[in-house]
Amino acid sequence: MKKTIICISCPLGCNLAVEYNNKAIIRVLGNACNRGAKYAGKEIFSPERVVTSTVKIMGARVPLLSVKTDCSVSKEKMFDIMKQIFKIQIEAPINRGSIICKNICGSGANLVATRTLDKTTQIR
Ligand code: SF4
Repeated sequence: MKKTIICISCPLGCNLAVEYNNKAIIRVLGNACNRGAKYAGKEIFSPERVVTSTVKIMGARVPLLSVKTDCSVSKEKMFDIMKQIFKIQIEAPINRGSIICKNICGSGANLVATRTLDKTTQIR
C-alpha cells in the first residue's frame, strides 16, 4: 500500500511518500531526516495527537479555559477524551500548567490548563 503524509515533527513539513504492508513500513521517501521515517511508522500504525480544547470555568472573567493534553494520545481515544472534556467544569482561580484531569480516559495523558485565570469578584 502507498500513502502520502506530511511529517509534523518539525516546521519544515516534509511530504512523505510511504510504502507499507499490514505489518511494516517498506519505504519512506521525501523525509529530510530520520525523524520523518519514524513519524511515518507511527502515523501509519498507531497515529497520535495532542488534544487541545476548552473547559467551562466558573468565577473567572471568561467562561472557558483553554486546555491541552500534556502528551500525544492515540487518535482512537480522542472522541472519548473530547466527550469527557465537554463534561468538565472547574472553579477559578487556575494556574497555567495545572492538571485539570489526571490520566484522562486512561490515555496516560493529563489534561492541563494552558493559561492562568484569576478569580473575579462580580458586583450584582
Ligand atoms: S522529515 Fe525531518 S526535516 Fe522533514 S518535517 Fe520531519 S522532522 Fe522535519
